[in-house]
Amino acid sequence: MITRRVTFKAAEAGGFYVESPTRTLKPTQRCAKCWELTPKTLADRIHQCSNAACGHVEDRDVNAAQVNLIWARGQELSSVGVDGQALLSAPVNTGGFKQLTQVKRQKLLAQQSSKG
Ligand SMILES: [Zn+2]
Repeated sequence: MITRRVTFKAAEAGGFYVESPTRTLKPTQRCAKCWELTPKTLADRIHQCSNAACGHVEDRDVNAAQVNLIWARGQELSSVGVDGQALLSAPVNTGGFKQLTQVKRQKLLAQQSSKG
């Protein structure tokens, strides 16, 4: 129910709701600078990147939030059509990411069928 409400509020504000795939993204272990994984226990409160070439040091939760944000922005960029027009600018109350991907799929299908 909280997801539905957040989705609605995000759409109402002209944005959209995305849920990051934390099992594959591993935001608490991934480095926001170089994207490498650094295994941690819950007791490790500081992210110290295991990649010697990176060496990024950040509060664990701040780093995880940054990883999620970077991922979400990637999703946002991938929702921009080939004509450069963001699909988000179509209907404002789209109802969130699920419908957005449907719109994207329809657009892809339309492009494929026009290629013949
Ligand atoms: Zn790093």
